[in-house]
Amino acid sequence: MADSGELLLKVTQLHKYFGERKVLDGIELQVEKGEVIVILGPSGCGKSTFLRCLNGLEPVQEGAIQYRGQNLAGAAVDWREVRQHIGMVFQNYELFPHMTVMDNILLGPLKVQKRELKEATQQAEQLLERVGLLERKLDYPRQLSGGQKQRIAIVRALCMNPEIMLFDEVTASLDPEMVREVLDVILGLAQQGMTMIIVTHEMGFAKSVGDRIVFMDQGKICEIAAPQQFFTHPATERAQHFLDIFQ
Ligand code: ADP
Ligand code: MG
Repeated sequence: MADSGELLLKVTQLHKYFGERKVLDGIELQVEKGEVIVILGPSGCGKSTFLRCLNGLEPVQEGAIQYRGQNLAGAAVDWREVRQHIGMVFQNYELFPHMTVMDNILLGPLKVQKRELKEATQQAEQLLERVGLLERKLDYPRQLSGGQKQRIAIVRALCMNPEIMLFDEVTASLDPEMVREVLDVILGLAQQGMTMIIVTHEMGFAKSVGDRIVFMDQGKICEIAAPQQFFTHPATERAQHFLDIFQ
């Protein structure tokens, strides 16, 4: 999707340590409304940690994360509020096993956002319809396949009406035949103009969904490029090496 020029996220000189160990080393990134950013990089380079910082799941030691001008790296951040605007889906769909699909989806809209049951249910049903799972609304997670659970986890995040979605290797735990159904949901969101930051190892998907590819290694962003550029002429040897392994 073409971006609109409206700046949503601005990350400046972000540094993050686990103990003595530096895992994010001066990250700088700006994301405009409607942009799809794909983050690639070897295992352990800091991709998940970066997304978790954007969602308040990891504290940041130095630098700034601004969402619409509000600094999220400061002390007094209401993450419950921010997470309504920046939704996240993880590798291991964390659905509550004792709750039906519908109750899983409605938990945030009803308890956190204090919305009307009827209105929230209508939205949940529309979203379920969109991912082809409306008829499973009263099932429990154990009755669903991995791909179905992951599509429900995406619906649950979307039902909060976030402005930005973060996806952290959401197909990495899935059997190959279920990967496509989940990627198609994310492609659909991109076509509708959703702003997203996606960590994935699916290179074909990265190429087709991304407006920009961010390549990370050892806690640093090594390269930011258009997919066409990145996949044909990566700027760094590290990126070339990474592509040689994955393609
Ligand atoms: P990626 O998602 O790119 O595979 P991660 O962000 O998960 O990488 O991890 C980056 C580095 O931080 C790795 O070296 C990892 O071992 C380390 N790390 C991640 N989480 C923790 C943690 N909670 N405590 C200590 N080290 C961690
Ligand atoms: Mg990770």
